[in-house]
Amino acid sequence: MKDWNSILSPAVQNVAPSGIRKFFDIAAEMEDVISLGVGEPDFVTPWTIRESCVYGLEQGYTSYTANRGMLELREEIAKNTALHGGVSYDPKTDILVTVGVSEALDLAMRALLAPGDEVLIPEPCYVSYKACTVLAGGVAVPVPTKIENEFRITPADLEAHLTPKTKVLLIGYPNNPTGAVMSRSDLIEIANFAEEHDLIVISDEIYGNLTYGGEEHVTFSSLPGMKERTILLDGFSKSYAMTGWRIGYAQGAPEIIAAMTKIHQYTMLCAPITAQIAAIEALRRGEKYMRKMVSEYDRRRGVIYRGFREIGLPCFEPKGAFYIFPDIRGTGMTSEQFAEELLRTEHVALVPGSAFGECGEGYVRCSYATALGQIDEAIARIGNFVKKHIK
Ligand code: PLP
Repeated sequence: MKDWNSILSPAVQNVAPSGIRKFFDIAAEMEDVISLGVGEPDFVTPWTIRESCVYGLEQGYTSYTANRGMLELREEIAKNTALHGGVSYDPKTDILVTVGVSEALDLAMRALLAPGDEVLIPEPCYVSYKACTVLAGGVAVPVPTKIENEFRITPADLEAHLTPKTKVLLIGYPNNPTGAVMSRSDLIEIANFAEEHDLIVISDEIYGNLTYGGEEHVTFSSLPGMKERTILLDGFSKSYAMTGWRIGYAQGAPEIIAAMTKIHQYTMLCAPITAQIAAIEALRRGEKYMRKMVSEYDRRRGVIYRGFREIGLPCFEPKGAFYIFPDIRGTGMTSEQFAEELLRTEHVALVPGSAFGECGEGYVRCSYATALGQIDEAIARIGNFVKKHIK
């Protein structure tokens, strides 16, 4: 028997498997399960986007593209960021098209981090942030956020975790899993902090189009002085219901984008041409479909928020993304116990908050990118469960 511990890379061994997948796997084997677990739109990609891809295939677009992605797509991305984000990037030098935000995040970390460099990561947060940091040889430094502060991050929180090795701040608002957003004034304080301590900021704005109740999404790199120190990540998965197409992008200083492109050209070569063609269509003609999906998420958000309050689970009213993060501490269970027991007895799948960092303990994440009827039924089942366990 081989000693795999000595064979497999220590960096890989140090990364725990995602706490999200485990629950999908259990749920996939059960019948009659309602899943609020998946962070994925329940809509199919709008037809005009799918059709553009079909047409592209008919026309014979089946080749590699430029490493950085099709110039036509980069031009559309630049236009979109200038129009909606208020910051302009040069499509020739400042933009890299990637295989999802997932790849962009990995490239950003590998382009920036030397062994031992520290990355401040406000938690609870998307499960890949810590893993990508560690796999790139960096040290992930969690910075807890609290429900009392609506899961927003402050300079004081960050300051408490700053060391001479801190190089990067990784933020993701609107936030997965809490639904928190940061206002312009919150972000200006973070920008001042980044400037003062000379940090590079990776801003994952994949949920930037998904804000509710009149909340404004502020593109971090549009703030004074931030363009040169920010890597702005965005993609099509959530806004345009395109998770399976695997297409995202990074925007930033030409030097950083060139470094990321160097890794990308040797590892990925380019993002699929089929998905790039579809992404061009999404930016040219997809907005009205995207807005429709966002208003449907907003309707569901109202239903699920009221539902949780009625069954006695306190929660923060989410302002962005499509997740809600109820507080289950009143049941006396850990979030993992709650999720497992709920799945076993009521057949509702959700994700324990602890999967998103230690400070997510005591909460569970539910996605409301789920049909309304399913949300109603899930709330009824969770209500049953909570009645039995609330102390
Ligand atoms: N960033 C956040 C915050 C996410 O929630 C997700 C997916 O759930 C991703 C990035 C990955 O997105 P993509 O499908 O573009 O790789």
